[in-house]
Amino acid sequence: MIPPAPSNGTRAQPGTRPDPRLADDWKHRLGAASTAVRELLADVAREGGPGLADHFYGDMLDDPRASRFISPEQVRETLKPSLQRWLRGLLAGRPDDVDELYALQEHVGAVHARIGVPVDLVGRGARMLKDGLHAGIRARAADPETAIDAMICADGLVDIALETMTRAYARSRDAAGALDGSFRLFSLIQNIGTERERQRALLLAWENALIYALTAEHPGPPQPLLISRSEFGLWFLHKGMASFGDTAETREVNLLSARIDSALRERLPSAAGVAERRALLDELRASADAIRNLVSMMFDGIGDLESGRDALTRLLNRRFLPTILRREIALQANTGRQFALLMIDLDHFKAINDTHGHEAGDRALQHVASLLVENTRGSDYLFRFGGEEFVVVLGSVSEPEALGIADGLRRAIAESPLALADGSRLSLSASVGVALQDDHPDYERVLARADAAMYQAKRGGRNRVVVATANMPDPPGARALQR
Ligand code: GH3
Ligand code: MG
Ligand code: MG
Repeated sequence: MIPPAPSNGTRAQPGTRPDPRLADDWKHRLGAASTAVRELLADVAREGGPGLADHFYGDMLDDPRASRFISPEQVRETLKPSLQRWLRGLLAGRPDDVDELYALQEHVGAVHARIGVPVDLVGRGARMLKDGLHAGIRARAADPETAIDAMICADGLVDIALETMTRAYARSRDAAGALDGSFRLFSLIQNIGTERERQRALLLAWENALIYALTAEHPGPPQPLLISRSEFGLWFLHKGMASFGDTAETREVNLLSARIDSALRERLPSAAGVAERRALLDELRASADAIRNLVSMMFDGIGDLESGRDALTRLLNRRFLPTILRREIALQANTGRQFALLMIDLDHFKAINDTHGHEAGDRALQHVASLLVENTRGSDYLFRFGGEEFVVVLGSVSEPEALGIADGLRRAIAESPLALADGSRLSLSASVGVALQDDHPDYERVLARADAAMYQAKRGGRNRVVVATANMPDPPGARALQR
């Protein structure tokens, strides 16, 4: 278990509403504890906390899997004090504190998920804590009855905390998995335009075969005409659904296809007359039309969103930043290749919009995006992070190399004014924050450090590059990388 330090720039997740059964149970347990039990638990958390934290992280650091997530320095500086705070909050809580406690456990669970802490390690941590608490209770309890009540209470509270963390963990992992999946898809479907036309043509081919069969004198058996057997139907089943995901549109396409096929199976054999077959054909073609529109909508959707590209700049959408950063963090841990993150914010962009209009602002963003492409390596990742903010992830770099690229970008932007329609030239500049990845496993950290450095660049006068150092103040309104 790695309770996060509260000052690392991350914020509690907005999360979902607390599970009322869990929250009620929690309140009930805290409310039902006798004064003697409450005092004993508070005492154990306060006095026994440091020893417990030593034991807990001593064991974790010995485990090669856990040591990938934590360093001895982190353990000493932040994790141990943070675990002690967590314990005190949990054991000395009051029923009124439950909402806050709940939010904290959710946050811890989400951080575990982001970092990718194996879930069994968290379970082991909880077991160790319970053992430690039992020992502390036994040593400090005035009488056996209070000791038993306190152990039951402590176990229940640790279990509830764990359950809350696990809920948030599962939710975050699911969301991350879906995102990784759509990123894979994005790299899978190379050419969305071609695929769209191909599927359109295949659907038309199925429809033509249907028209041909239903207007012929002897239409034959329905089997070869089923849409689920057509090339389009097969593509949709095997690839389309995997690509577009489980959405209202994909479900509707499935429903329409099933309806088409059952109409063919049930009505074609008995549709002896031309008029009957005509009616059936009209009905089926209406459904095919609906499918065509739906599929077209789905392609539109992945055209600019699921494809992962920002529509204006064609840079990567920030949704995929967690996927890339997780991958780079793992790569660095496994191969020692360090990566760096650049946070680039254009200077005085509001004034550019105000003076030259929003459209010129848009063109400036496109112009900067192409400068980023021209002045980085093919292996670097370029994201549009927000309005006039960009993130660049530089893989396999040393600090001087990252600085060189960052300053090259800054210079390119400052020295390449945008030619406006009226012949004038619009000067641009950017402030750049650079953060080299340390061994912190949480990708929000490197982002927050780059953000803090960028803010320092603004404060230092803009049009400059600043490298993140330890203990930089958080920028105002420190941003978390929430989706
Ligand atoms: P600073 O040097 O402190 O960064 O000043 P700034 O004016 O750039 O800072 P701020 O972040 O306050 O303003 C960013 C502006 O960028 C606000 C918004 O109007 C503009 N902007 C955001 N997205 C877009 C966009 O897609 N197109 C255009 N044209 N403007 C955008
Ligand atoms: Mg900005
Ligand atoms: Mg700006």
